[in-house]
Amino acid sequence: MDLHLQGKSALVCGSSKGLGYACAMSLAREGVSVTLVARTAQLLEKSAETIRQATGAKVTTVAADITTPEGREQAFSVAGMPDILVTNAGGPKPGDFRDWSKDDWMAALNANMYTPIALIQHVIDSMINQRYGRIVNITSAAVKMPIDILGLSNGARSGLTGFVAGLARQVVEHNVTINNLLPGPFETDRLKETAAKTAQNTGKPIEEIMQARLKSIPAKRYGQPYELGDACAFLCSAQAGFITGQNLVLDGGIYPGML
Ligand code: NAP
Repeated sequence: MDLHLQGKSALVCGSSKGLGYACAMSLAREGVSVTLVARTAQLLEKSAETIRQATGAKVTTVAADITTPEGREQAFSVAGMPDILVTNAGGPKPGDFRDWSKDDWMAALNANMYTPIALIQHVIDSMINQRYGRIVNITSAAVKMPIDILGLSNGARSGLTGFVAGLARQVVEHNVTINNLLPGPFETDRLKETAAKTAQNTGKPIEEIMQARLKSIPAKRYGQPYELGDACAFLCSAQAGFITGQNLVLDGGIYPGML
């Protein structure tokens, strides 16, 4: 299927590895020029080169913290006003809510709620004026099925989801869509970090935690990042212009609800 993305531009945040990287790779394969953002310059440049080699697409990089105003300014100074925006940053730390301070909450709200909103605020009018825009937020399946140790994530991402639900309906008449991708367990560093924390809390080996988790997934496997990347590319396509304000769960069947 031709997604009609040739010649478009995208700013993909949190994209030197994992799910953001997979989105950038899938978009680049469709002929999109991508700007990658992550804090660690070395890995970022390596990942950009891999995407260039694999796709021939134009790939630029910005080594910056997207959760800061300065980082966002740097990102837009390189990406300009993109046709496509993929918001993503690291998830908040797991733990027990009794241990979290106001600063912990502010950091989670900033990274996983305010930062995507600030990025959207920056691009939305340009997208409306050109009558094309695609915004995809990488959130979490925890928005539908909260995970006990990830309370900071459950809370902050639910706030973003509520905000987006309202805005998406206001801008779709201009061919600007906003959708959320809700990953369940995907095989990335983040997944391993969360498993390591559970292993530490329970005293069980990490391999046992990973195996036990696998059993609870109806698909009996972890998600592969490219599967989310290709879903992102589809949501950015011309054909997806009638899809907006949706929360697409990618979790191998874990979420048991019908809706
Ligand atoms: P990952 O493999 O750890 O990759 C995170 C990427 O974001 C890296 O490129 C990282 O690079 C970059 N990043 C992190 N903080 C950043 C910041 N402040 N500014 C700019 N770049 C930043 O994580 P992932 O598994 O792809 O997860 C992506 C998102 O999905 C996270 O929010 C995670 O909580 C959520 N999620 C993941 C899963 C899963 O199973 N993997 C499930 C549910 C939700 P630097 O560290 O160099 O900046």
